[in-house]
Amino acid sequence: MKVILFFLLPFSFAVSAQTVADILIKNGRIIDGTGNSWYHGDIAITDGKISAIGKLDTVSALKTIDATGLIVAPGFIDVHTHIEGDEINNPTADNFIYDGVTTVVTGNCGSSRVNIKEYLGMLDSLRTSINIATLIGHNDVRRAVMGNSSRNPDQQEMKKMELLVEEAMQQGAVGFSTGLIYIPGTFSKTEEIVTLAKVTAKYNGIYVSHMRNEGDSVIQAINEALHIGRTANLPVEISHFKVTGQQNWGRSKETIALIEKARMEGIDVTIDQYPYTASSTSLSTMIPDEILSDGNDSIQARLQTPAIRKYVVDQMLKNLKKRKLKHFSYAVVAYHRADTTLNGKSIEEINLIKGRKHKAKYEAETVIELMLRGGAGMIFHGMHEKDINRIMRYPYNMFASDASIRIFNQGIPHPRGYGTNARILAKYVREEKVLSLEEAIRRMTSLPAQKFRLYDRGLLRPGIAADIVIFNEQKVQDLSSFERPHQYSTGFHFVVVNGALVVDAGKHTGVRSGRSLYGSGRQNK
Ligand SMILES: [Zn+2]
Repeated sequence: MKVILFFLLPFSFAVSAQTVADILIKNGRIIDGTGNSWYHGDIAITDGKISAIGKLDTVSALKTIDATGLIVAPGFIDVHTHIEGDEINNPTADNFIYDGVTTVVTGNCGSSRVNIKEYLGMLDSLRTSINIATLIGHNDVRRAVMGNSSRNPDQQEMKKMELLVEEAMQQGAVGFSTGLIYIPGTFSKTEEIVTLAKVTAKYNGIYVSHMRNEGDSVIQAINEALHIGRTANLPVEISHFKVTGQQNWGRSKETIALIEKARMEGIDVTIDQYPYTASSTSLSTMIPDEILSDGNDSIQARLQTPAIRKYVVDQMLKNLKKRKLKHFSYAVVAYHRADTTLNGKSIEEINLIKGRKHKAKYEAETVIELMLRGGAGMIFHGMHEKDINRIMRYPYNMFASDASIRIFNQGIPHPRGYGTNARILAKYVREEKVLSLEEAIRRMTSLPAQKFRLYDRGLLRPGIAADIVIFNEQKVQDLSSFERPHQYSTGFHFVVVNGALVVDAGKHTGVRSGRSLYGSGRQNK
């Protein structure tokens, strides 16, 4: 009897004649986030939560949405973002909201605020339109303790780093991230990461890795991430999973097999992906690591030393040769503060604009020149659609934008910040049928919620937080492109965050009903 009640209760407790909900969504096709088939039903929302699901003819509401012909799904959870700094002036997070995203995880790639209590508290008083959880980033922890030094930490420094991670987890971080291609994380040995991951594990956190390599040494890099998960005994999420460089195209076969083997062994490893064949990161990733230690002054001095400069050029030419390319055409400047007229142009083009010979050697010099003038945000066209597809089909892969809150019309950023989810639903579900709609939504909702332990989100169930998107599966579309990135996705008619309408009839209402999401290791609430 108890069992029967348990199942009946959620569907019936709000369905009495007098019930008045805040919002009632009628006649939609519900896709609940589990991966199960759609079904017809109504959803009632009361006090920020889903209060009932079913045929709710006796429920009235302050606001009724007719979802006839539309899909009703949980709000999307984007587990890989970098919003720090942009949320203050852009709390409505339009690029995410118009792409159906209601929750983000920030603090990725080793880069986060160090004082998590202060950060989440700031977000609580700021109020954004999206829910925000954060990781504690290794690079910022290391920098706080030992600057950008390239050496190993001594015992005392190691203890300090452990303490910072411990505090962050106690203050509500959901896990620990690394960015092992960036300074200073790139200087750390695996043992250092294991030690900090062990601290994370004590607080039910997960390890999120921007790995040491995503090209020639990708297998070693995956093995390192798996080793960290195995040794520190915590779940692993590998960020923006990919294989870059023409010479590596097709190797997603090996990398996915390696992930699957680790799962068979019992390592709780999952991955995420953005659905584009170009990546986006800092210009400094073109420069050898050993040049990048000890802060900007040292880097500038090295790049101006003729012998070192020659070494850097040689290394860049070697890497270009590996890619089987004659020019740095794959590397496009997204944002160069010192001269924004270069935004959107490739290194090959910029070299010609500067009046230099059309040779890779001079293009490498152009890279150094841009570095000396403050560096740049870059887009690198280096992946193959077949690898994107293979990774996409992997059932434990979720989708994530790897983006900041976009500032409309500033720079030429990667389109993934505007269009990741709409692109999956339009290109890969509707047009190419790589995934079913239900499966794509599972990867955007319950899979990330489970992995990052956001147990109150990612599903449509009575009692759970009311984060809901309502969209037209025939019309949903990403519009942002590499050439014209500043365009919002279309097709999301309604977006509900914690029971409040953030998008109403296709327009952002300005409502900021998102909240900070704290990890379960949080103490002294
Ligand atoms: Zn990253």
